[in-house]
Amino acid sequence: MTPQRARRVFGVETEYGLVGRRAGARDTRLSGGEAAQWLFTPIEREHASSNVFLRNGGRLYLDVGSHPEYATAECATVDDLLVHERAGDELVARLARRAEADAAEQGEPVELRLFKNNVDSHGNSYGCHENYLIDRALDLPALATVLTPFLVTRQVVCGSGRWSPDGFSISQRAEVLHDELSSMTTRSRPLINTRDEPLADPRRFRRLHVISGDSNLSEPSAALKVGSLLAVLDAIEDALTRGDALPALELDDVAGSLRAVARDPRAVLRLTSGRTIGALDVQAEYLALAGERPVAADWRRVLTALAEGRDDDLDGEVEWVTKRALLRRYAETRGLASDDRRLAQVDLAFHDITTDDTGRPRGLFRLLEARGAATRLTSSDAVERALAAPPHDTRAVLRGRLIRTAQAEQRRYSVDWSQFTAHDLPQPDGTRDDRTVRLTDPLAVVDERVDDLLRALSSSWTAPAH
Ligand code: ATP
Ligand code: MG
Ligand code: MG
Repeated sequence: MTPQRARRVFGVETEYGLVGRRAGARDTRLSGGEAAQWLFTPIEREHASSNVFLRNGGRLYLDVGSHPEYATAECATVDDLLVHERAGDELVARLARRAEADAAEQGEPVELRLFKNNVDSHGNSYGCHENYLIDRALDLPALATVLTPFLVTRQVVCGSGRWSPDGFSISQRAEVLHDELSSMTTRSRPLINTRDEPLADPRRFRRLHVISGDSNLSEPSAALKVGSLLAVLDAIEDALTRGDALPALELDDVAGSLRAVARDPRAVLRLTSGRTIGALDVQAEYLALAGERPVAADWRRVLTALAEGRDDDLDGEVEWVTKRALLRRYAETRGLASDDRRLAQVDLAFHDITTDDTGRPRGLFRLLEARGAATRLTSSDAVERALAAPPHDTRAVLRGRLIRTAQAEQRRYSVDWSQFTAHDLPQPDGTRDDRTVRLTDPLAVVDERVDDLLRALSSSWTAPAH
């Protein structure tokens, strides 16, 4: 039976903040490079590289600026994406534990903290990229225009929140994007990366590369972030195919609107038409466009609670609400003013995803989640499986199988999102040669060329010695 073909694949890239210090010595902070060195030593030992594709189809690498990055394998369901993103968090957190254990054993104990956030203490910003497969026929500038008001206001359902002395912001990225946008003439570019890198057959596909979102610890927030965009994308594609009208909500000032919404989810925005509209009503228009899809009920419930000023009902679900409630509790019990700089530490600690040597979370969000004060949607069993195996309904399953086999057979190989090359494969005539299969259809899960290559990789036949 051929499995039913999903409509599109999608994946999330998460860059983590990394801070290391020599244990016991508070003021001896490791440089970013040193901390990354500790974290990646086991990876480099195993793969001779700090940029690797894994057996689960995902990719782990060290980007410039010493930020570890995990890119999930291509997923076709939101459930799979949540599980694979969580597996990435778990993977880097385990690397940190292992590095701490290795360092202790070598008599130079270090402590490594990994933060799943988007701004470090110096105000440097790093991303959470969402990737969605779209049809090549879709006009990207037109799509970007329709998506921009949605993306500007999406932070109300999934922003991760940010404390600053001059007030709480519901999104980490909004302020940074505001600054970037203010110095640019094009309107939507910093929300969507328009670099044309489909990572697939360029004649059939494009990759929509959304770079405006916050990383999420809260799984319900992550589900809304991706689920709402998927629903809107489907609806836009359907409308374009039928020739239906699309929401005409072009914002007069994209940068200003981003910041206004970050400061107040109930902000009123001005459109190029001169009309004004509340940020929540913009979301409601896209919800209506999306129609009755699986995400609609949660999305509507969150928008309604916000519209009615019942933000606190969303504590433990919407990430910025959860963070703001935690900051308020902390300030209250200690008698701190809301602009007390100690709250910056609470904000940072919220995002820590590492665990201590008993496996107990160090981060404040993960502690809330472990106590049941924040909703978790994934099971730890599913996350454990995702650490080892790819989603079954995208080409990641082929990549995973090739990598697993090549590793088991100790073959040399190179791999990226859309191809796999086995190096020095023995040929019947005694020579050795490379063999490449291109995986240009992200939704293909069966491929005879892959089956052939798998056979070649695992054949026990080796070239006779000369
Ligand atoms: P960067 O933004 O860090 O410069 P990048 O965006 O080119 O790099 P990766 O960090 O390697 O690429 O991550 C690619 C992400 O896109 C992964 O999460 C992957 O699952 C997803 N992806 C791969 N192919 C496609 C595709 N054809 N369409 C949509 N998403 C894809
Ligand atoms: Mg990347
Ligand atoms: Mg990217």
